[in-house]
Amino acid sequence: MMRHDVAIVGGGCVGLSVAKHLAEETDLDVAVLEKEHHLAAHQSGRNSGVLHPGFNYPPDSKKAQFATEGTARMKAYCAEHDIPCEELGVLVVAQDDSEEARLEELAEQAEANGVEYELLDSQADIQAHEPHAVGQAALYAPEAASVDSQQYVYELAKEVQEAGVSLYTGYEVTEIDHAADGYSLATSNGRFEVSYLVNAAGLHADTLAHQVGVGEQYQVVPFRGEYYEVRPERAELCQTMIYPTPDPELPFLGVHYTRRADGKVIVGPNAVLAFGREAYDNTDVNPRDLYETLTYEGFRKLLSSKMMVKVAWNELNKSYRKEKFTAASQRLVPEVRAEDLHKSYAGIRAQLVSDDGELVKDPLFVERDDAVHILNAVSPGFTSSLPFGEHIAEVLAEKV
Ligand SMILES: Cc1cc2nc3c(=O)[nH]c(=O)nc-3n(C[C@H](O)[C@H](O)[C@H](O)COP(=O)(O)OP(=O)(O)OC[C@H]3O[C@@H](n4cnc5c(N)ncnc54)[C@H](O)[C@@H]3O)c2cc1C
Repeated sequence: MMRHDVAIVGGGCVGLSVAKHLAEETDLDVAVLEKEHHLAAHQSGRNSGVLHPGFNYPPDSKKAQFATEGTARMKAYCAEHDIPCEELGVLVVAQDDSEEARLEELAEQAEANGVEYELLDSQADIQAHEPHAVGQAALYAPEAASVDSQQYVYELAKEVQEAGVSLYTGYEVTEIDHAADGYSLATSNGRFEVSYLVNAAGLHADTLAHQVGVGEQYQVVPFRGEYYEVRPERAELCQTMIYPTPDPELPFLGVHYTRRADGKVIVGPNAVLAFGREAYDNTDVNPRDLYETLTYEGFRKLLSSKMMVKVAWNELNKSYRKEKFTAASQRLVPEVRAEDLHKSYAGIRAQLVSDDGELVKDPLFVERDDAVHILNAVSPGFTSSLPFGEHIAEVLAEKV
């Protein structure tokens, strides 16, 4: 049996950031338990790798605060640790009057959140930034950047180990129980006794939280995001990052173009219901997970909205019919052709849904006297990981 002061379940960017800040700010004996043998196997290594400065989020919200601070801190961290980070800027493109009106709202948010921006009101101005993008107006945010997310996770892991944190990879936490002084964790490699617990298990955070009676009014619903890569000979179609104007009703940003830190141009992600929490291919099915989703009352209520059914149908089509994905890509860059796109990786978002059928859009964590359960480390969770992890570390340190 292993004994530590704190167990952090989940070695993604959030769990490791909590570990980093606990190691820096306390003398606690901290362990990170990660079920995979390799890091960055799930959300933290399967994303767009974009640092989103806070123009997309309402002023004074935690999301805006963490994203704005996170963007600046991540750039400094990448520079200090030699992690690829390209400060390319992002162009958010509007195609019609209603989207253009939304750009004005984004500009107001950018202003309030102290994010640099420029509004472009002609096709000529758009093409001065992105020669192949098409739209009637755009918001240009120069602070957006593209980071190698997997290298970032590995660097965090290296740093925390050097600071004395024990990192156990290949240790899946299968059961959490209350013990006389803290928690007893059953893992795939033996039992751990700890005084404090941080649940940062991403796609599985709700399952673990429910074992100790936390967050029972929520469930993670997995939404897969699939990417295509623009073949290298056509990568000039996107120089930086080109996004559609986001729909404020939806938590996902829509199919966009990202020039990654390694120079590849990827298009995506869509947002389709995954038939399993780790069902990365559109033919993968995990019957237990799927049953859990389909019988969840929150999911059924979510699907009772006509708008959500329409969105779900469109996204499903983009997953199974390449021409639909291409059409969504052509909305921003009409010159892209189906043969320019080849299938790349996919990520799965741990989207928290409440029993009343709401998609939880803000970061959510639940505190207990001796635990913090991070139930919704929603996008831009990668951008926000340094300040968010620091915040959770502070919350936990106060309990000790
Ligand atoms: C397709 C996609 C695109 C995105 N794009 C962006 C973007 O461009 N910018 C941005 O800021 N954010 C983006 N995000 C969001 C961002 O990736 C997440 O918010 C962030 O990675 C969450 O990190 P995490 O550490 O909470 O989760 P994870 O990375 O999923 O880490 C959780 C870890 O817990 C481990 N684990 C789970 N269960 C157990 C268990 N029982 N025992 C032990 N270990 C366990 C898992 O193996 C995993 O390593 C995107 C997400 C997706 C899916």
